[in-house]
Amino acid sequence: MSARPVYSIVAPVYNEAGNLQRFCDEVALALDSTGESWELLLVDDGSTDGSKEIMLQLAAADSRLSVIGLARNFGHQIAVTAGVDYARGKAVILIDADLQDPPAVIPRLADKWKEGFQVVYAVRSERRGESFWKRFTAKLFYRMIHRITDIDIPVDTGDFRLMDEQVAQVLRQMREHHRFVRGMTSWVGFKQTGVEYVREQRAWGETKYPLRKMIAFALDAVTSFSFFPLQIMIYVSFILASASLVVGAIVSFLRLARGEEFFGGQATTIILLLLLSSFQLFFLFVIGQYVARTYNESRDRPLYVVASTAGLRRAQAPTQRMQVSAAFPHQAEEETRNDGV
Ligand code: UDP
Ligand code: MG
Repeated sequence: MSARPVYSIVAPVYNEAGNLQRFCDEVALALDSTGESWELLLVDDGSTDGSKEIMLQLAAADSRLSVIGLARNFGHQIAVTAGVDYARGKAVILIDADLQDPPAVIPRLADKWKEGFQVVYAVRSERRGESFWKRFTAKLFYRMIHRITDIDIPVDTGDFRLMDEQVAQVLRQMREHHRFVRGMTSWVGFKQTGVEYVREQRAWGETKYPLRKMIAFALDAVTSFSFFPLQIMIYVSFILASASLVVGAIVSFLRLARGEEFFGGQATTIILLLLLSSFQLFFLFVIGQYVARTYNESRDRPLYVVASTAGLRRAQAPTQRMQVSAAFPHQAEEETRNDGV
């Protein structure tokens, strides 16, 4: 095997015990068909269902597999980030470990890469086996992000994508804590294209994205790439100011002309008060979202903590806090494997 593999497959794993064997088999099948070298980095995101042990066994049996064990559950986007940090390939491929993104699509992504594209994202032409609710919220989410963000994030694409080492290297230097990885790869630029695929049903287990996490994820996506929620306040304030002028004029006119008490009474006042307070609290929430993220970034903690690794080459560990410079961290690599966990 050459010093550096051509492909690095990065798969975040959080309680996927029933999927791992088949997932690794399918990745091997798909990648072997390219005839080029590859590595598979399984990032254990604090699994509690025995996934870790299965991964260690798989890695012990196949030298192309390695395991990066995070110290707790850091979340999908951070797990992906850890995998990219450790990846050594000339192309890095992000893929879910639940077989919703079929590994058989990887060679098609690789073909586009060889045509000269630096980012090849997989576009979901169809989603199978997901509830109406999930499909509806996902559709809404992608369209909203597309509309209000400043960069061109393609709709209906998840994190399943291939990126050239140049893009991976830029990504390694983007150390923000609230991460929307698919937006970040779009932000980098270069030549990007999409390949359509059918998103399969989850092979085993349940989704790890309940509504609460989906909302947090959507907020990260929006605040990472848009100031639109802050800017709409000015429009709302214009609308309310205009409304007050118009209503004020109408009420004054009616009272003077007819001497009648329009909009009189406490009920009107209370309703308006509640409505306006709700606007104000909503916008305080919006501002709070940006302020909290600013605070979080300023603490500058590391993005994740690695508890153990298996199957990595010695020089594969990224520099602490990943303050990498333009140089590739893997250039001076040794070929000794470090199999100690
Ligand atoms: N995942 C993870 N950490 C988490 C949640 C999810 O590493 O906190 C992994 C999970 O094991 C899977 C991928 O991220 O490989 C996508 O998660 P999931 O399938 O639950 O999301 P969905 O496809 O339902 O959006
Ligand atoms: Mg999934």
